[in-house]
Parts: sequence; C-alpha cells; structure tokens
Amino acid sequence: MNIFKRILDIVYPYKCGICGKINEKSLCNRCYLRLKDLQRLKIIDIYNKNFTELISIFEYKGLIRDKILEYKFNDKAYLYNTFVNFLLKNEKVCRKIKKYDIILPIPISNKKKKTRGYNQSSLIAKNLAYKLNIEYREDIIIKTKENLTQSELRERRERRKCKRCI
Ligand SMILES: [Zn+2]
Repeated sequence: MNIFKRILDIVYPYKCGICGKINEKSLCNRCYLRLKDLQRLKIIDIYNKNFTELISIFEYKGLIRDKILEYKFNDKAYLYNTFVNFLLKNEKVCRKIKKYDIILPIPISNKKKKTRGYNQSSLIAKNLAYKLNIEYREDIIIKTKENLTQSELRERRERRKCKRCI
C-alpha cells in the first residue's frame, strides 16, 4: 500500500470498518448490530498489584479476530474509529472507564511502530480518552525490551507440543 493511501486511511477514516461502505463514524448501524450480537462482555475484578479490573468486550475469534488482524497487520488504521465508536455506545463500559483518571496505551517497540506506522493500542486509547474527556498519557509505560510476537509465541508452543508427541 502506498504511503499516500496509508495517510488517507488514518486522516479520513470515513468508511465502515466492517462492511466497507461510506460511513462518517466508521461503523454503520447494520454492522453495529452485528458486532453487538457478537459481544461477550466480561468485567472481572482482579486483586493483584498491577491490575484491579479487566474488561473484555469480545471473544478473539471469527469476524473480531479477522478485524483485529487487519487492524494490526493490513494497514487498516482507520479501524480504531470503528472499535472506539462501538465502545462509546456501551454505557456500562463507558461508566467503568470514566472511573479512571488516565488512559495509557500498551507500548510497542520503535521497530514495530516503524514497520506498522502506528501503535494500534495508542490510536484506540487516545481517541477513547479524547471522547470520554479523560487524560491520555504515552510517557508512563515504556517498552524497554523486544519480546516475541503473539504468532511467534504460538509457533514456539506448537513446536514444543510436537516434540512431546514424538
Ligand atoms: Zn457496515
């Protein structure tokens, strides 16, 4: 994909991230209902030193998995708008998020940011913070070492499993 198209997708994300039709909010009503149907909201209280609450909206499979992979690896940065606009329609989730003082993205390495052109978590976090009027900070959690990607971890697990089978 050329750089100009890439910039346009980030600056003018005016199409539904699910069906591709022109839509100002990047999520048409039909696809909103489709996503709502796939929603499996889980709010889990966690008691450890790093986390107190975990909110999960979808199961990582089917259409959701495809869209997350497109978002991360296929230059479809505009999908952040689709995800954020879906989240903003969920009052329960918005109420939970508004309890927090700051929203921070999960950092990615500079190498990955350079290859992808954006931090997928940061686009969502920044937009969500702006729309919910919460402070946004990128300088609190910094990535200091490169770890394996999810697909590299999966490959390693599969290889180990195979060795055990032999
Ligand atoms: Zn749509």
